[in-house]
Amino acid sequence: MARLILFILILLLLYGTLHYLIKDMPLRRRRSKQMTEPEELVQDPYCQTYIPKKLAIRKTLSGKNYYFCKQECLEKFIHQKNQ
Ligand SMILES: [Zn+2]
Repeated sequence: MARLILFILILLLLYGTLHYLIKDMPLRRRRSKQMTEPEELVQDPYCQTYIPKKLAIRKTLSGKNYYFCKQECLEKFIHQKNQ
């Protein structure tokens, strides 16, 4: 009987370890994928700076998408275009 309890305990311990490993694995993979995945960069047509697309200010001018690093660049670019 004592051996059966020990066996169950070992099983529970193994299950716990496996569960921990399985649960942790995709998370670790996801995290490393995020680190290695290159962020999409867009160029600011005004100051020529490259900025991550999700941080850029998007503006559609005559059907074309432009990305700016800051509001100031957007305004200056429009001003320059209108001259
Ligand atoms: Zn800029």
